Amino acid sequence: MSEQVFVMPATELAKLGLKSFDKIHYQSSPEELVQDSLRIGEGVLNDTGALMIRTGEFTGRAPKDKFTVKDELTENSVHWNDFNIPIEPKYFDIVYKKMIDYLNRLPEIWVRDCYACADPRYQMNIRVVNEKPWSNLFAYNMFLRPTEDDLDSFQPDWHVIAAPGLKLDPKECGTRQQNAALVSFKHKMILIAGTGYTGEMKKGIFTILNYVLPHDKKVLSMHCSANMGKSGDTAIFFGLSGTGKTTLSADPNRKLIGDDEHAWTDDNIFNFEGGCYAKCINLTEEKEPEIFRAIRPGAIVENANFFPGTNKINFDDASITENTRVSYPLSFISNALEPSVGHLPKNIFFLTCDAFGVLPPISKLSPGQAMYQFISGYTAKVAGTEAGVTEPKPTFSACFGAPFLPLHPGKYAEMLGKKMQEHKVNVWMVNTGWTGGPYGVGNRMKLKLTRAMITAALEGKLNTVEFETHPVFGVAIPKECPGVPSEVLFTKNTWTDKNAYDEKAKYLGSLFIKNFEKYASGVSQEVLAAAPKV
Ligand code: ATP
Ligand code: MN
Repeated sequence: MSEQVFVMPATELAKLGLKSFDKIHYQSSPEELVQDSLRIGEGVLNDTGALMIRTGEFTGRAPKDKFTVKDELTENSVHWNDFNIPIEPKYFDIVYKKMIDYLNRLPEIWVRDCYACADPRYQMNIRVVNEKPWSNLFAYNMFLRPTEDDLDSFQPDWHVIAAPGLKLDPKECGTRQQNAALVSFKHKMILIAGTGYTGEMKKGIFTILNYVLPHDKKVLSMHCSANMGKSGDTAIFFGLSGTGKTTLSADPNRKLIGDDEHAWTDDNIFNFEGGCYAKCINLTEEKEPEIFRAIRPGAIVENANFFPGTNKINFDDASITENTRVSYPLSFISNALEPSVGHLPKNIFFLTCDAFGVLPPISKLSPGQAMYQFISGYTAKVAGTEAGVTEPKPTFSACFGAPFLPLHPGKYAEMLGKKMQEHKVNVWMVNTGWTGGPYGVGNRMKLKLTRAMITAALEGKLNTVEFETHPVFGVAIPKECPGVPSEVLFTKNTWTDKNAYDEKAKYLGSLFIKNFEKYASGVSQEVLAAAPKV
């Protein structure tokens, strides 16, 4: 194997304030980063050769600790809310200095140049500075990888600096607690301190792209997965966390474009990322072969455990977190599209994991219903693990991605609405959640059946069947679907207590209506008419 030696951009790193370049690992290969992680005792290999790491105290994102610097650029453009929390510029300067001082005191650090956006017209170069080698490997897996030639002339547009070991003093730093992620559009920097959760880097870049693309480039950015059929027909899958974007886009019969973050331009769909970040909980080779087989050398498995006395992963073990994850480059999926740029979409799926067990497993939406559902962004999680608490917790997250959207949701909705009209796409709502009753009574829809429904929709097999209107949600439910027993299609049929179903449906409908109040004045009559009838 030939050793690759890259020239470190020393002058530029010095400008950041970094010193002593002999301790900076620049553009290390995945093999080197795995070795470095093992050497410092922060990882082990499993029996298939993937790197197993622990992210520490944080095993998920910390949305309450993500701040956006409020300055002349952002003051009037960012939609300040629970997810876009302002912080004064002076605190950015303080945290920045602390991070550089901290990094300068460490025995070694890792720096990598990479980029986001697979369409060269929108390429955004990123320089990532990490305290940990496994964070740097995550950046290698998840962002796009420049060629040697690209690196010769590489100029970073944005910097991500991540120091999980640096604990901030909230008083001094203007933060809520010891961990924080600070985004400065002026400095084009994301500072991550006090948390080792790798997803902060990924979703940090996603957040800024959700500003830059629609605001500066008139391009719609979306929290969705995407794949393309043999005839070049693209499908996109919107949905909040855990609804099935990653699982359902990994379809052996279709080429994967990406599992989480895309843009829709005038002439294509492109992926922002160069990798996937899949959930591992209850993973089996039988149900999710593509993801299971991606757990191999180069992949990073986060916060999972082995069966005692072995180095075999116990995918059912949620003792560290339910949110066990694996990151890997897109090429680990056998049928990934390269580069990840696809045709304009023919089908849009809104994925929801309805733990109330009300919504039909697949239904077709009118244009008005599509806008209504997009703005609502509904899913329902299973409530906490406290004994006896079984009531699902509804979440409404505008555009299926409120935590990552710096602009007003209306901006994304308007752009999507125009595109849906212009391109006459089919829009489907797919409930990957409960059937046969709510959580505690019924069961989650079988993955095999959800896949069959999506395949039928994509192959046009639902174009010729009869539909029935849902009495509350007004959506069109196909009366038959290849590979799916008909009784499953009508959720009410799967409940033993039909009255209970009707009541739950009305209750869920009322939650939608209540949530929509804040948008009602800004949408058309057609969208308003798509509200549930309770
Ligand atoms: P995130 O935004 O957090 O990455 P995601 O939308 O990509 O979330 P997935 O990683 O695809 O979500 O998670 C879906 C999970 O639900 C997987 O663990 C999958 O095995 C499980 N699952 C169970 N039943 C179904 C089903 N019918 N359809 C889809 N996923 C299902
Ligand atoms: Mn995902």
